[in-house]
Amino acid sequence: MLIGARQIFIRFHGCQLSCEYCDSPESRSGKPPAACRVEKRPGHGDFIDISNPVTASRIGGILEEWISMSPTAHHSISLTGGEPLLQLSSKKEFLPVLRDLLPLYLETNGIDYETLAECVDFMDYISMDMKLPSATGMKEYWKNHAEFLKVASKRNVFVKIVVSNHTRICEIQQACDTILSVDENIPLVLQPLTTHDGKLGISGRYLIELQETASIPLRRVRVIPQTHKFMGLL
Ligand code: SF4
Repeated sequence: MLIGARQIFIRFHGCQLSCEYCDSPESRSGKPPAACRVEKRPGHGDFIDISNPVTASRIGGILEEWISMSPTAHHSISLTGGEPLLQLSSKKEFLPVLRDLLPLYLETNGIDYETLAECVDFMDYISMDMKLPSATGMKEYWKNHAEFLKVASKRNVFVKIVVSNHTRICEIQQACDTILSVDENIPLVLQPLTTHDGKLGISGRYLIELQETASIPLRRVRVIPQTHKFMGLL
C-alpha cells in the first residue's frame, strides 16, 4: 500500500514457517549466521560484514549515518525477515531505538499474535500475510490470522496474500471473511507469486478472477507484484 515510498530494510533471521515460494530461505532456518551484511551506501551493493549478535545501539548508529546522508529520502524502516517477531519477542529494546529514527513498518507472516500484542504500540504500519495452503504447501493458519488481525487492527494494517494458479476461490473467500470479521475497511493486497526463476506464477486471467472475487465483499482490494524484484533491488 506504500508502493514507491523508500524504506530501510532490516532483515531478521529465522522463521517458524517454510513457504515453498520463500525468497529468503537463507534467512528463515538454521543457525543464525556469524555476521550480518550491511550496505555501506544505499543501493550500491557494497556490503560489509558485522558480527552477530548486533546490539540495538549499533544498528541505531548505522541507520543514523544512513539517514544523515539523505535526511528526507526515507519513509520508514521495514522490519522483515524471515519473521521479525521471532527475534523481537526477546529484543524489544530495538523498537524504541529504531522508532526514534523513522516510523516502523512490520512485515510479518501473521501467525504470532501474542508477540505482536507486546510490540504493537511501536508499529506504525503492519503488512500482515495470510498464508494459503495452496501457495505455501503448508497447513492453514486461519485461527492465528484472525487473532493476529484483531491485534494488528489497532494500527495502520493491511493484509497481503500471495496468489498463484493453484489458489482456490474458497481460500480467497475465507480470507475476506476473516477481514470482514474485524473491519471491512482493512485493505487487501493480492500479490502474484514470483517463481524462483523470476516469472509470475499466475495467469493474468486468473488473477483478475481472484481480484473480482475479493472485490465483492471488500472495498479496498489491490493487485501489487513484488516491485523490488523488477527493480533488481535486494
Ligand atoms: S513466512 Fe516469509 S520468511 Fe517465513 S518461510 Fe514464508 S515467505 Fe519465508
